[in-house]
Amino acid sequence: MISNIIDAKSIDALSRLVDKAQNIAITCHKSPDGDAVGSSLALAHLLYRMGKHAQVVTPDMVPKALGFLPGVHTVVVFTKAEQRAREAFERADLIFCLDFNRLHRIDKLGEFVGQCKAPRVLIDHHLDPENIFDVMVSVPEATSTCELVFRVFMQMGLLHLLDRYAAQCLYTGMMTDTGNFTYGNDSPEVYEIVASLMRRHPDRTWLYNNAMNTFSADSVRLQGYALSEKMELFPEYGAALLSLDRDELARFNYRRGDTEGLVNKPLAIPEVSWVVYFREEPDYVKVSCRSVGDFSVDDICKRYFNGGGHLNAAGGEFYGTLAQAVDVFHSILNDLKKENNDEEKQ
Ligand code: 5GP
Ligand code: MN
Repeated sequence: MISNIIDAKSIDALSRLVDKAQNIAITCHKSPDGDAVGSSLALAHLLYRMGKHAQVVTPDMVPKALGFLPGVHTVVVFTKAEQRAREAFERADLIFCLDFNRLHRIDKLGEFVGQCKAPRVLIDHHLDPENIFDVMVSVPEATSTCELVFRVFMQMGLLHLLDRYAAQCLYTGMMTDTGNFTYGNDSPEVYEIVASLMRRHPDRTWLYNNAMNTFSADSVRLQGYALSEKMELFPEYGAALLSLDRDELARFNYRRGDTEGLVNKPLAIPEVSWVVYFREEPDYVKVSCRSVGDFSVDDICKRYFNGGGHLNAAGGEFYGTLAQAVDVFHSILNDLKKENNDEEKQ
């Protein structure tokens, strides 16, 4: 049995908003991943089937690797078509914010969404959501926003609208946010939801190969280089550090998404329980962190890298040079040592 974990009040309020709405805008976090795009497109499919007009607007480009998702060609990208994106929000009588917890996560689009008169609905699984939404479905324990879109429609009694396309999108987000169901949530209900999706024949193998196991030769070589030449281990702290500078990225013709999954690799080493990966971007350093167990990389990203995320997967941005970011990493190790010493003394 899949239980009703979302409170009935939120479901009622959301149902009423959807009933009244005709033009619905849906947006998700910048640098959108399988869960962000999957949940947005699935929601759009479901709303179409309710007779609504729904427009997905992403803050920036959808990675090429997600080009297989049904409906992806309908997405309006804010950085490419600002006017069309603005019109979608101006026209909207309801806005869905998916897979992010704070408006700054959608960049410039955030100011705009913040000012819109239409009610805003959040469906998300990140910690500490901002209190600016008319309805909040915020469940940090959920595997993914895709899982929550499924649960919302289940609790609204509308699962009959879930077709193969929507199932493909929802399966993709649940799969990518759990590393193909290897971490994030052990609840049997996750698999009951997957069973329900499988009845819509989403073709699991095809989705896995497209979303998680398709890399260019350059990107496979770049990941190999990063692991063999650039991985540093700090066994005393259970830590691993990966960093790639602009020249290294250029040498392997880096394209966005080419190092997707790299940050997880050092976790295969038994001595490693958390990993920090720095990638030099033109005006900041992108930070990605992963951990196993109760070591919170959400805390690390909040405290040191202007970011956050989940307990075991978080990210952020560092405004400085790559060398300075590496210095911050070393200062984290020092801080952890101090905190451990203090605890021992107590
Ligand atoms: P990734 O390392 O794959 O970019 O992100 C891992 C998790 O951290 C995702 O859930 C993502 O939403 C979150 N995250 C990534 N980058 C940022 C960021 O710059 N700020 C915040 N608040 N969260 C981030
Ligand atoms: Mn997610």
